[in-house]
Amino acid sequence: MPEQPTRPRPAGTIKIGTIAGSDVLVSSSWFLVAGLIAIIIAPAVENAQPGLGAWKYLAGFAFAVILYLSVLLHEASHAIMARRYGFPVSSITLHFLGGMTAIEGEARTARQEFFIAVVGPLTSIAVGLLALLVRPFTPDGLLLMAVDGLAGANLLVGALNLVPGLPLDGGRVLKSLVWKVGGDPHRGTLVAGWGGRVTAVAVMAWPLLQGRLLDDEPDILDFALAFIVAAFLWSGSTAAMASARMRRRLPDLVARRLVRPALAVPGDLPLAEAVRRAQEAGAGSIVTATSAGEPVGIVNEAALAAMPEDRRPWVQVSSVARTLETGLRLPADIHGDDLVMAISRTPATEYLLVEADGSVLGVLSTADVDRAFRGADH
Ligand SMILES: [Zn+2]
Repeated sequence: MPEQPTRPRPAGTIKIGTIAGSDVLVSSSWFLVAGLIAIIIAPAVENAQPGLGAWKYLAGFAFAVILYLSVLLHEASHAIMARRYGFPVSSITLHFLGGMTAIEGEARTARQEFFIAVVGPLTSIAVGLLALLVRPFTPDGLLLMAVDGLAGANLLVGALNLVPGLPLDGGRVLKSLVWKVGGDPHRGTLVAGWGGRVTAVAVMAWPLLQGRLLDDEPDILDFALAFIVAAFLWSGSTAAMASARMRRRLPDLVARRLVRPALAVPGDLPLAEAVRRAQEAGAGSIVTATSAGEPVGIVNEAALAAMPEDRRPWVQVSSVARTLETGLRLPADIHGDDLVMAISRTPATEYLLVEADGSVLGVLSTADVDRAFRGADH
């Protein structure tokens, strides 16, 4: 869905700049983790460059910043590739597990999906290899430590992100390949989603394997980290699969097939009389109209039901009708994605379906859309 460029920042983030027109945000959790990294690696800093005293913590923090700058490069590559294909990128967010690029819209072809995904890990691997290249020319001490860290972290991030499971980049690569071969993007998502679930289980099992294979007893931190990463993978893949299952059923949703015939009445007609006429005409909904026949409102079914029988002769139809704003008039042929987007843009319980020539086809009830959507599942 197209969004305004000036949209509110997600809660708990601060903006640190822009890259190629996209906001770069840092989540508050990141500062906590950067502080932790600074404390954890302070002894290594001391080792690499003795005599720094308390400055070693600042050096450790700078080290964390450099690592995350390389994560930023990874995310920026996704953003730049997405923009090349014409997708707006609203923001890049750095959080403690890495980064996230908010691309608006979905790849239209398997090729776009492939390149937007694969460019990230390739960028990380390139940064890692570059660091390895300059390593022999790097003086000992803090600088060498930074170069080693950059090489190790980026090669690791690049390789891990190529693991073929959603929500990792490798999962999107797998999705694009399945999409290319079978022609169905949603099947691609389901396959890559299972890849993500298998990866999550493997990550959970890793601390145990580590004990068996490497003879390296896992500690509580290993288990905690494995749990966090596995939960991230599992929830990401599950969400992607749920959305693919939903989107798969969308093309079956056709507004025209769900239309309720509408009876047009003057807005000042007593409600009881309008209901009587509608029943007589076999109409499933009531629209209020001007004397010239121009529709101005749709009777809200819930408001009508809430109106006691004995009051209906004394109130006007318009008192239970919602005024027709622009978003409440939908083209009669709207379907699938477009229909769902139109409903989420202007949430309402009833919409007026209008033919291309401007004539009214009838009323679309959101309840009917929901029912058809759930029904399509069985
Ligand atoms: Zn990525």
